[in-house]
Amino acid sequence: MLSSRIARYDTRTALPPPKQPDPRYGSAAHRDWRAAVLARAGHACQRCGRRGVRLFADHIVELRDGGAALDVTNGQALCGACHTTKTVAARAARMAR
Ligand SMILES: [Zn+2]
Repeated sequence: MLSSRIARYDTRTALPPPKQPDPRYGSAAHRDWRAAVLARAGHACQRCGRRGVRLFADHIVELRDGGAALDVTNGQALCGACHTTKTVAARAARMAR
């Protein structure tokens, strides 16, 4: 009888770790920063001007690029579409470095 020569591969070990939210985003200081950024923008997207949609308080210089986490001048209000466009561009620029 032939035994299998193919090793078993445990795919469970290849799963990425569960995504954990950055604890900074749950802090009272971050909530205050977010509220200040959105108020400063008049609760409108600062790229396309949309109102009445969910807004993201975006770090202009992203945290992973060394941007200040709680500086209101490093924040801008963006709608979901503009936030996605900005985030993708920032990621592409980071990968090109
Ligand atoms: Zn927008």
